[in-house]
Amino acid sequence: MTPEQNAAKIIEVAVPLPLDATFHYSVPDTLAHRASIGVRVLIPFGRRKITGYVVGTPAASAEEVREIVDVFDEEPLFTEKELAFFRWSAAYYFHPLGEVIKAALPAGINLTSRKRNVVAADGTLVQEEVLTGGRPVKRETFYRAVAAAGPPPKLRGTMLRLHEYLCRVEEAPATQLRREFAATAVHFRRLLDLGLVAAAEREVYRDPFREEVFVHDLPLALNVHQAAALEHLSAAVARGAFAPFLLHGVTGSGKTEVYLQAIARVLEKGGTALVLVPEIALTPQLVKRFKSRFTSGIAVLHSGLSDGERYDEWRRIRRREVTIVIGARSALFAPLTNLGIIVVDEEHESSYKQSEGFRYNARDLALVRGKMEGAVVVLGSATPLVTTYHAVQQGKIGYLQLPERVRSLPMPTTELLDSRGRKSATFLPELVAAMGDNLANGGQTLLFLNRRGFATYLVCEECGTVLSCPNCSVTLTYHRRRERHFCHYCDYSIPAPSVCPKCDSPSIALLGRGTERVEEEVRELYPDAGIGRMDRDTTSGRGGHSRVLKGLENGTVDILVGTQMIAKGHDFPGVTLVGVISADATLNIPDFRSSERTFQLISQVIGRAGRGDMPGRVLIQTLNPGHYAITRAVAHDFTGFYQDETAFRAEAGYPPFAYLAALIFSGNSAQEVDKGATAAAGLLQRLKGEARSRVEILGPVSSPLAMIRGRYRRQILLKSGQRPELHRLVARFRKQLKLPAVVRMAIDIDPLDML
Ligand code: ADP
Ligand code: ZN
Ligand code: ZN
Repeated sequence: MTPEQNAAKIIEVAVPLPLDATFHYSVPDTLAHRASIGVRVLIPFGRRKITGYVVGTPAASAEEVREIVDVFDEEPLFTEKELAFFRWSAAYYFHPLGEVIKAALPAGINLTSRKRNVVAADGTLVQEEVLTGGRPVKRETFYRAVAAAGPPPKLRGTMLRLHEYLCRVEEAPATQLRREFAATAVHFRRLLDLGLVAAAEREVYRDPFREEVFVHDLPLALNVHQAAALEHLSAAVARGAFAPFLLHGVTGSGKTEVYLQAIARVLEKGGTALVLVPEIALTPQLVKRFKSRFTSGIAVLHSGLSDGERYDEWRRIRRREVTIVIGARSALFAPLTNLGIIVVDEEHESSYKQSEGFRYNARDLALVRGKMEGAVVVLGSATPLVTTYHAVQQGKIGYLQLPERVRSLPMPTTELLDSRGRKSATFLPELVAAMGDNLANGGQTLLFLNRRGFATYLVCEECGTVLSCPNCSVTLTYHRRRERHFCHYCDYSIPAPSVCPKCDSPSIALLGRGTERVEEEVRELYPDAGIGRMDRDTTSGRGGHSRVLKGLENGTVDILVGTQMIAKGHDFPGVTLVGVISADATLNIPDFRSSERTFQLISQVIGRAGRGDMPGRVLIQTLNPGHYAITRAVAHDFTGFYQDETAFRAEAGYPPFAYLAALIFSGNSAQEVDKGATAAAGLLQRLKGEARSRVEILGPVSSPLAMIRGRYRRQILLKSGQRPELHRLVARFRKQLKLPAVVRMAIDIDPLDML
């Protein structure tokens, strides 16, 4: 190395590629002052040029380093504190730091590249890559009135109204004036020419809630349980140190009110708040409650935002114009400074776990971020995770309970209907009778079935062929309205055949039922009733949820059929009957969490009944009337369920008594995947022997879904009573593993979905 190179500034760069390393580069003097931690740089990488993130400024580098080409950002995109969090997450989930950072930043910020032809110095035509920085910000023209020199000219019509209005207000954006006064470019130009108004262009945010007006409300007087919970939270907020809590209370017990008041304490101290909710619970009603309570800036992050809107919200947060962020999973990475509280509502929801790419769990990382920031973390749920409640028992998480509903409504009466040996009708007679009674009394009914579509499979009664997906190991679901059979994993579909595709026999049967069939059968039973359906098929598109729920609110829907969507978070005061078509669908999923999920779902469904002034009734059809997940849910007995479930988990060695990591191997060739997974298992066994580790290595086995989207899958499950031991083994394994290029491996730490 020459002395000049020695003196150059060195930076550590993370790249958004599946690589387990960061890289050193030197910075030319002209760029040195801008290449600080948190900015993006353009770097030569192999024979390409790519974008990377500056994550360190080491004093020197032992490696031979290349020089960066450019610096993209004037200001850092992340702080060193956020970087520490990204680093922790990358290490914990064994995911490349550059990809973690990319996932944490809003998509709208990413540079887009396009190719363009340029004439090189030697006269030949070459392709050059042009990078354009991020999404353009939105600008808008604002008008304001100014005093004209000389006597005021006579104005009439639109011009007059516009001018009068602008004299009254400070200034107004062009879009508003166009809308309210039917003003056009001609009007604006005349007023400008006359010297009556001035125009200024400014950056504006795309705010999806801009148009709405919120009526300000005040904190409610808390009941004794809420007050006790708030007292503990306020004390923790006052201490200003990391403090995790479980807020255990059924829907309607006043958890949200407690969050609101705890957040108020944080804001008073000058802190900020992060509220995570499952996507499905991120309704306008929830946002409205926050916007009505707080006059300070609130950002809302959900999947319905365009990249531009998301980027705008992100910039508002970064510029500290926001003190509260409400959002789904990825909002965990919101760049709030001085974070005082993180709320994870419905902490048991599996949607907090990202199932592809960077497989993080926002509920778990909320505790990590809270610890790093010295914040209070509140996990709220009516049916907490078994692992969370275990941590409470161990004294690691504080316990706050709201044991009753705010308006002391009685819990609904619940009956189990044993479907064993009683023909495979959709409704047992008891449920039909109850629906009829409820309809006659003017009550609303919810019918729950956790499967969408009409029929779950088509089978040929002649040759036994079952219609299944050519890309995935699942049957195709028949959707009647669209007259097609769909794969729910890859969206492959075919038109509904009238004869068996294999033997041409016309005796084909549609078996199994989904929400679409239930809806149809209810229509046949009650042709005059208002009937609606709520599942992924009827709620797609913006505002899909509210569209369906509107019918329940305004009373045009008497019976609503739906998947788990109807089980969650909504408050329907008119619902006096809930029917569970089959409680067994989730119970039979081959996953150690199936009992827990079933308990949670049934508990939630039960919670939907009798939220208004009328008492509620719940009927549950099941083939497993003795299963503890069902009996404990029916008895509203969380602790009983916890005991049964922990007994099973302790015996079988599952969380909270063991930590898990899944290694998923996939590829287009079953043979290669099999070979790769077997070799990987061999390496694991060898490393385990060398380290005298007690990690259990299970597999490789075929994944329960052996093929998804045309890719074969095999998996290895690692189990250990100690997290560090598990982590060390995976780290060593990952360094030494050599897989053929056609086989991909994903590491899933604390896997939730074992399919
Ligand atoms: P959760 O989040 O547990 O479902 P909420 O906070 O949404 O409960 O409360 C349920 C309902 O009760 C809401 O309509 C809320 O406004 C009302 N509520 C909550 N706390 C009180 C209180 N202390 N006094 C009166 N009404 C309350
Ligand atoms: Zn056939
Ligand atoms: Zn498929």
